[in-house]
Amino acid sequence: MRMKRTIWLSGALVDSQSAMIGALSPAAQFGLSVFEGIRAYRSEKTGALNVFRLNEHLERLFDSCSLVGFCSPYNMSELESIIKMVVRANDYRSDIAIRVAVFVDGEGSWTSSEPINLFVAPIEKCRSDILQLKALKACVSSWVRIGDNSLPPRVKLGANYINSRYAYNQAKAFGCDLPIFLASDGKLSESTGACIFLIKDGRLITPLCTSSILNSITRETVIVLGGEMGLLVEERVVDRTELYLADEIFLCGTAAELTPVGQVDQFKIGDGSPGKITLALLKQYHAAVSGELEQHASWLTPI
Ligand code: PMP
Repeated sequence: MRMKRTIWLSGALVDSQSAMIGALSPAAQFGLSVFEGIRAYRSEKTGALNVFRLNEHLERLFDSCSLVGFCSPYNMSELESIIKMVVRANDYRSDIAIRVAVFVDGEGSWTSSEPINLFVAPIEKCRSDILQLKALKACVSSWVRIGDNSLPPRVKLGANYINSRYAYNQAKAFGCDLPIFLASDGKLSESTGACIFLIKDGRLITPLCTSSILNSITRETVIVLGGEMGLLVEERVVDRTELYLADEIFLCGTAAELTPVGQVDQFKIGDGSPGKITLALLKQYHAAVSGELEQHASWLTPI
């Protein structure tokens, strides 16, 4: 266990053990907190630590703030400087994850928009090991994904994850690793903290951004990398039964990277182990985050 972690809270660098927010805060009571999970990867060649797609994460954080009615306490470039400062203060040697949250502190209600606060907390987290990767067992949840006219999944709001929690608890009780959500129209949506791709006859298929999903940065990255690898990419409405007939399935997200799925409900996907195209895409993803793809140098922000 890491003993000492320096985070940013209430405008200063503080030890995470002494970092406090209000017990009566709307963030604690109602999940009134928008956040981003960001990764920084160390280049195996140069040893430099680079944040992956920082601008896109910050833009999404600002979109979340705007939709939920928060005024971010910092602008984009101030936030970027704070993130760099916090990471440097911890002097990590490995790859890391960085959690950034804008939330309502104080003692108000779910209607409150102040006092607004921010934390930035880095956590050691290594990239996945392709050689150790196992395919997960998933089930289609009987819980329906939240929708744009109720609790928009496009907003990365803490409270949204309670929908994920119900589905996750059910999947675990059924002996699965994770659930897959259908949207209210019965079509494929996403998983609890990751989007989903199917591979069928060499085509890469994923639900639309309007299929009750978070507008995932990894999803967009995979679409670009898949296209460059010569795969045909289809962003479209996807039926549940297409899952069962897929050659390969993987989840994708900043934390999940690319996570293979080897079974959905009673149906084995391929031979039940991580698929060849999934692994090739993950290898390319690791090349991108490590700064080995010259054409995507702009995806990296050096610390
Ligand atoms: N969907 C949900 C609900 C998520 O929480 C995440 C993780 N942020 C994703 C999808 C994947 O998004 P991203 O690739 O931007 O991390």
